[in-house]
Amino acid sequence: MSNEINSGLNFDNSYAEQLTGFYAPSQGDKAPAPVLIAFNQPLANCLGLDTDNLSERQLAAMLSGGVCIKGAAPLAQVYAGHQFGIFSPQLGDGRSILLGEVLDKSAERRDIHLKGSGPTAYSRAGDGKASIGVTLREYLMAEAMAQLNVPTTRALSVISTGESIKRHKPLAGAVLARVASSHIRVGTFEYFADRGQTGKVKQLADYVINRHYPQVSIYPEIQDNCYLRLLSEVCKSQAALVAKWMNLGFVHGVMNSDNMSICGETLDYGPCAFIDSYDPKALFSSIDTLGRYRYNNQPPAALWNLARFAETLLPLISTGAKQSLEQAFNVSNDFAANYRQKWLERMRRKLAIYNDESEDLALATTLMNSFEVNYQQYWLQGMRSKLGLSNAEAGDRKLADDLLEMMGAQKVDYTQLFRALAKAVSGEVGPATDLFAQPLLFKQWLQCWAERRERDRQTPTFRAAAMNAVNPIYIPRNHLVEQAITAAQEQADYSLFEKLQGVLSLPFTEREGLEQFACASADTTARYTTYCGA
Ligand code: AMP
Ligand code: MG
Repeated sequence: MSNEINSGLNFDNSYAEQLTGFYAPSQGDKAPAPVLIAFNQPLANCLGLDTDNLSERQLAAMLSGGVCIKGAAPLAQVYAGHQFGIFSPQLGDGRSILLGEVLDKSAERRDIHLKGSGPTAYSRAGDGKASIGVTLREYLMAEAMAQLNVPTTRALSVISTGESIKRHKPLAGAVLARVASSHIRVGTFEYFADRGQTGKVKQLADYVINRHYPQVSIYPEIQDNCYLRLLSEVCKSQAALVAKWMNLGFVHGVMNSDNMSICGETLDYGPCAFIDSYDPKALFSSIDTLGRYRYNNQPPAALWNLARFAETLLPLISTGAKQSLEQAFNVSNDFAANYRQKWLERMRRKLAIYNDESEDLALATTLMNSFEVNYQQYWLQGMRSKLGLSNAEAGDRKLADDLLEMMGAQKVDYTQLFRALAKAVSGEVGPATDLFAQPLLFKQWLQCWAERRERDRQTPTFRAAAMNAVNPIYIPRNHLVEQAITAAQEQADYSLFEKLQGVLSLPFTEREGLEQFACASADTTARYTTYCGA
């Protein structure tokens, strides 16, 4: 086609080519006046986007969805999902399209996806659009998470479309370009499983193994187990991801199964937020009235979603695989004999699995071993790093739990405290103790921690540097994110957004003059609330 833009991107669209029936071809709307308002040049370079030969106008047109790009095969993916525990059999990309997959400069396969690019076959009653506020928020949060070393989708650009979109009040519209290892979700599996399309579930599972978990298919002697192994790998990725969220104080806010990526990246930044003062029950989303996705409910919520994923694989799990499962996961037979029934009943209630009993056992075993056990290990390992410990001792969990309990009771700032602990390593305890209104118990804890460190010899300088490399000083503070987004949305003033983005690009490096970016809002009475939609 002559009016195609040559982007320099090396498209190779395996989803479009191999998974016919899993999507509807879909073109984005042509934006009336597209303007680039945020652009991630390092990511663009990594993808191979030819910014030298593309004008800003061309980039804006291309990344808002209205023009054909050479090699792209735009489509809307179909999926279902459990939203707040209730199954929606028909969701799908209602306001986004997958432009295609690109092999980047390191030959990694990455989805390029536009959010807010107009209606698709799956828009239902929605307009297919997004606002500047929502897209810049996702840009800021996703890039902050990437710099915090959390697996995440990335943000490539935000284009303001020049269009006004109808919400509670008219809002300026925008399109986010995001990059992901893929956009396959638990909900993608649920869509086909719900329709009894086992062949399609298998096709999708094989595709996912090939694309994301090739290690699953390299055990020829236990080929039968490959879908259980897939389940196990997905559980592990999610365990690692949620442990990182918990270690950093991140609340996703809307962990519906359609927002849970199969490859283990944080997906869909809606009503997410970071906790300021430590509160295990922290909850920000205006629509999460029962606290289903509050901070400390994230591990069980992930496990619940994984149980839904597991169910979709049930028809693919043969009897042979089930029998060898216990060996594969080292579940002791004594344990199984003694506790099987009770444990199964508990798991059933916990995970809401209501299928045939023998299959329940296989799934519950895999879920427990691959998610729960791994999650606990990853979380604890993360806490050890936060506390500057390089070896492991049995008492470490209690040490971490005791600290968190004190922090919760005294509403201590989570990010600031861990950062201040690095100073305490070399005897400067003031910054940490000053965060406690009543520091007596904390001082005792400091003593326990000092004794523990004695059994893990490192120089204070080395330990403090290791702690500062995992405990950020700058996170996206809620009040600052809100100010930046409001100024951008309402006054087209992007200065705070840009400033914040710069600060968050080096979250572990303390810099002079940025003190205000390292603190919670001075207004401690205001409860931060996040909203979906827009
Ligand atoms: P989310 O809450 O962003 O994960 O979206 C849940 C579902 O609603 C997905 O299928 C979205 O594509 C769809 N959706 C959200 N907003 C819109 C919109 N403005 N127009 C059409 N579909 C939407
Ligand atoms: Mg979503």
